[in-house]
Amino acid sequence: MERNHQGSVLLLKAEDLLNWARLSSLFPMGFGLACCAIEMMAAYASAYDMDRFGIIPRNSPRQSDVMIVAGTVTFKMADRIRRLYEQMPEPRYVISMGSCANCGGPYWQHGYHVVKGVDKIIPVDFYVPGCPPRPEALIGAFMKLQQKIKEESFLKDLSGIRRILKAKDENN
Ligand code: SF4
Repeated sequence: MERNHQGSVLLLKAEDLLNWARLSSLFPMGFGLACCAIEMMAAYASAYDMDRFGIIPRNSPRQSDVMIVAGTVTFKMADRIRRLYEQMPEPRYVISMGSCANCGGPYWQHGYHVVKGVDKIIPVDFYVPGCPPRPEALIGAFMKLQQKIKEESFLKDLSGIRRILKAKDENN
């Protein structure tokens, strides 16, 4: 930049800068529920190397902004998933990976123990089809998520969050 634009002034919106920083450093929460998680791990490994996009897994929901629900969501796990989601700071996103998380998968008809879609317990931003989906499909969902973040109005949303918190304080 210095070499090519020496003496130039760059103009951009603060919001665009913030969005660029956010989409370039996505931190998915590191956990998996069943076989789809193996493909998720493959996406992090050297052949696919999601780190090169700034996508680096974290081990705490409080440090994460993306939840990848990779695998079968049992009723026993549902409460834990919701609790982990609530512990993630705003703005947060959810990628549902594979048929099980999307709609119950092979357990759709007779799986008495399986939630028929993780969107019944938390909001989902992107669905990745497949049983299991390939790592490229998960990377494709992240590309779409980055596009979504690029178009977001984060500062507007932030003032909305502040208004909600203020109203909550006034009611208490
Ligand atoms: Fe396993 Fe298929 Fe379910 Fe993924 S969608 S967790 S591969 S059964």
